[in-house]
Amino acid sequence: MLLSISTSHQPATDLGFLLVKHPDHVHEVGLPFGSARVFYPEASEARCTAVLMLSIDPVGLVRGRGEAEGSLAQYVNDRPYVASSFLSVAMKRVFSTAMAGTSKGRQDVADMAIPLEAEIPVIRCRGGEAIAREWFEPLGYAVEVERLPMDPRFPQDGDSPYVRLRLSGVLRLRELLTHLYVLLPALDGDKHYFVGQDEIEKLLEKGGAWLSAHPERETIVGRYLRRHRPLVKAALARLLDADEEGVEEQEVRREAAEEAIERPLSLNEKRMDAVVAALRELGARRVVDLGCGEGRLLGLLLKDRQFERLLGIDVSLRSLEYAAERLHLDRLPPMQRERITLAHGALTYRDRRIEGFDVACAIEVIEHMDAPRLPAFERALFGFARPPAVVITTPNSEHNVRFANLPAGKFRHPDHRFEWSRAEFHAWCEAVAQRNGYAVRYAPIGDDDPEVGPPTQMAIFTRDAA
Ligand code: SAH
Repeated sequence: MLLSISTSHQPATDLGFLLVKHPDHVHEVGLPFGSARVFYPEASEARCTAVLMLSIDPVGLVRGRGEAEGSLAQYVNDRPYVASSFLSVAMKRVFSTAMAGTSKGRQDVADMAIPLEAEIPVIRCRGGEAIAREWFEPLGYAVEVERLPMDPRFPQDGDSPYVRLRLSGVLRLRELLTHLYVLLPALDGDKHYFVGQDEIEKLLEKGGAWLSAHPERETIVGRYLRRHRPLVKAALARLLDADEEGVEEQEVRREAAEEAIERPLSLNEKRMDAVVAALRELGARRVVDLGCGEGRLLGLLLKDRQFERLLGIDVSLRSLEYAAERLHLDRLPPMQRERITLAHGALTYRDRRIEGFDVACAIEVIEHMDAPRLPAFERALFGFARPPAVVITTPNSEHNVRFANLPAGKFRHPDHRFEWSRAEFHAWCEAVAQRNGYAVRYAPIGDDDPEVGPPTQMAIFTRDAA
């Protein structure tokens, strides 16, 4: 069973530092179920590849279990050849420092997103190769999956459940290893060692933030903890606790609170009108509403035939349900119904579904994200999806002193992670525009107070002509 990891980051041999395995040597590590070797088939300044080779001892696996009679399947199975949970266990043993994201000699490189490739020559992919794409693409990888024939000598026998998987992306080594650690056993779907409470701990420890925001997280966790429903529920509850959806229960109440604070201005209506006007002016036909919430903007856009194709994305399932109800999706005539789609997704991961739109909107959304996640949002939207235009609105914190019923120093919404002044918002927008080849202009929403500015600020990004 093999896993190879390559980089073209220069000098590529830094990979040896990150993995704490010198490229000139072969490293051997004993494991409870066999042994692992790490070696480098190539190690130059330009490109370096480390291979983790795992030899599994099927007899050793069975021995000591106290079973009087072993079935043949215990001895004869695909485990020695196919990447699975054993590979994850080995990775953790052999690459623990790199998985923790630490490096003695090269901490700067460990902290850096670098070009990385991973190849697993044989992995069982339950549910077809599409699953591998659905799981790895939202994490920002280019994915190649090649289905392997059952027996190369007898191609007419049809396809096997085995695939060759190649991933490439620009990310930290730690992230790559963590993604593989969690997703490979789940892809395989067959666990050959004990699944219990400690498995959940492991999943959460290694899965953490990216998993809780992953559009396929239910399936992934479900596969990981196969046939253990209560464990799946417990794991999901803990994951969700840690992220946006944890606040979902109170979301509706909080929305109401925010509206009450802003009501004197009926700011929400002004905001929606301003966004619709901006979209018309941009000549948008296809609009994706990122963090669409309960679908207020989509409802307005649906009324205007100029908008031919609408997609709403949100991480909160509950909000999407509200949106579907509000928009009467089940009762729309077919022609209308075809114009609009609602989808579950996280904005901090690359998502192919948001590609191909004229304009992407994120209305009152960025302030709901933890500031350290904004670069991931920027990368997914401005780096990968790259729509010709982007409209972003966010509160102007300077204006908060004008809200009589908002205590000083408080945010307008308990889930806001930050609220920016005009200068702060502009600084972020300028940097995003510059890094990604966009121009940006701003427009006030609501009364533009001479002293503290408008309650809401809007930025309109347009992509520079190529
Ligand atoms: N745009 C809507 C809703 C704003 S509230 C409106 O103006 O009415 C913010 C919304 O962003 C919430 O529905 C929340 O679930 C969603 N959201 C926050 N962080 C997100 C993320 N990382 N990915 C996807 N949606 C997110």
